[in-house]
Amino acid sequence: MAEYTRPKTEAEFEVNFSQKKPLMNATEAFYESSRCLFCYDAPCMHACPTHIDIPLFIKQIHTGNTIGAAETIFEANWLGNACGKVCPTTELCEGSCVYENQNVPVIQIGRLQNFATDKVIKENKKLFSPGKSTGKKVAIVGAGPAGIACACELRVLGHEVDIFEAKEKPSGLTVYGIAPYKITNKEVLDEMEYLQEQLDYTIHYNHAITTKEQIQELETNYDAIFLGVGIGPTATLGLPGEDKDDVIGAVEFIEELRMKHHEIQIPDTVIVIGGGNTAMDAASESAKLGAKQVTLVYRRDKDSMGAYAFEYNYSIASGVDSLFNATPVEIVGNGKATGVKFVKTHVVDGKLESIDGSEFVLDCDLVIKATGQAKQGNFLSNIDGLTVDRRTKIQVNDQYQTTNPKYFAGGDAVNGGAEVVNGAYEGKMAAIGIDLYLNIV
Ligand SMILES: Cc1cc2nc3c(=O)[nH]c(=O)nc-3n(C[C@H](O)[C@H](O)[C@H](O)COP(=O)(O)OP(=O)(O)OC[C@H]3O[C@@H](n4cnc5c(N)ncnc54)[C@H](O)[C@@H]3O)c2cc1C
Ligand code: SF4
Repeated sequence: MAEYTRPKTEAEFEVNFSQKKPLMNATEAFYESSRCLFCYDAPCMHACPTHIDIPLFIKQIHTGNTIGAAETIFEANWLGNACGKVCPTTELCEGSCVYENQNVPVIQIGRLQNFATDKVIKENKKLFSPGKSTGKKVAIVGAGPAGIACACELRVLGHEVDIFEAKEKPSGLTVYGIAPYKITNKEVLDEMEYLQEQLDYTIHYNHAITTKEQIQELETNYDAIFLGVGIGPTATLGLPGEDKDDVIGAVEFIEELRMKHHEIQIPDTVIVIGGGNTAMDAASESAKLGAKQVTLVYRRDKDSMGAYAFEYNYSIASGVDSLFNATPVEIVGNGKATGVKFVKTHVVDGKLESIDGSEFVLDCDLVIKATGQAKQGNFLSNIDGLTVDRRTKIQVNDQYQTTNPKYFAGGDAVNGGAEVVNGAYEGKMAAIGIDLYLNIV
């Protein structure tokens, strides 16, 4: 049973969604950095997809060179501040820290990272500037982590950049999708502004690229194009009753929550269907918005869930209940959803099967579907010569160049859905690939 009071003001919202990784003060950062062993060939650095020199930036913090630390971080990862807060650090850098094997608390790498990056963002310390102009122009479709990282790196390399973004804010799912107890909207947007001010790229908001004509226009006006379009809205389940009122996709629910905060209305009883990280987030968020009974329902057993254990534990700690081995067969109700009919499941010879006659209905006022995102197939089919695999992931080579040589791609559209840090890394590497391509053609 969840026990949060419904937030009625922004201040109450901030209490319910208080930050999981609050900022360290200077004393905390000094002592925490003093614990680092500055390992040779540090495993934490290998575990980070962007390979930030973690022992170096921790040493810089410890010796009072916080600005140098921020530079070390941003040079490896343009979304260094967001990643410090939203990365699953226990699975990446912190999970690889040598202290992990010694029964000693691991170094809080994410929070140290934020200590440094937050300082330069707040003080608006200019660390980067555009490179000498090459006269080449690159179009980027999508201002998510992949698109923004690609833009920053291209500007340092001296290429002009125009980003075309469907929505009205930059950073993609970082501001529209990630749970607000991991990072605030202000923190996300401040980093975006900090980068754009120094590196001077243009973002055209509310400017979706959807038609073949728009694509041809980009091909005519730009020397190369980067696709950082991510993956799409929540996929449909194909269940009877799915079109009833009060049935919503998790991605759409979370976007509304991030944009409206306490103004979003949550009913008392919520069912969240799914077993991935997005399902865990939607469930924890429903509880923190004041729903009294939030039930996570997953069709297999607990160990088969795709979600990280820490995300599941966090949802349970937020007051969420869970139910395993039940799959939805129908959304019930009259015009509006009043419950979900499930059938129990079990595994026979490695295959999930429904148990005949085991149907039951769980009542609710809201159904949140967290069962995967639809892909960008329609949009991508407008681009000649682009190869996608059977899961609609764009195929790229080592330089993140697609099978149409003028196009490069990275982030969720290529990896099928990973983390912000992967998008940031792939966007940066694609920019280096584009630079190589532009120097050859
Ligand atoms: C609910 C949820 C929670 C998550 N939580 C975490 C987390 O805690 N930590 C973490 O590291 N990762 C998390 N992720 C994953 C992370 O957000 C993504 O991996 C990352 O944002 C991918 O970056 P991207 O740039 O590839 O795509 P996106 O962030 O999706 O950005 C793509 C951008 O392209 C724009 N776009 C799309 N099509 C077009 C078009 N045709 N024309 C113009 N613009 C277009 C979109 O509007 C969007 O701004 C979460 C994801 C979800 C869905
Ligand atoms: S593994 Fe841990 S102790 Fe070693 S350098 Fe990385 S953070 Fe420091």
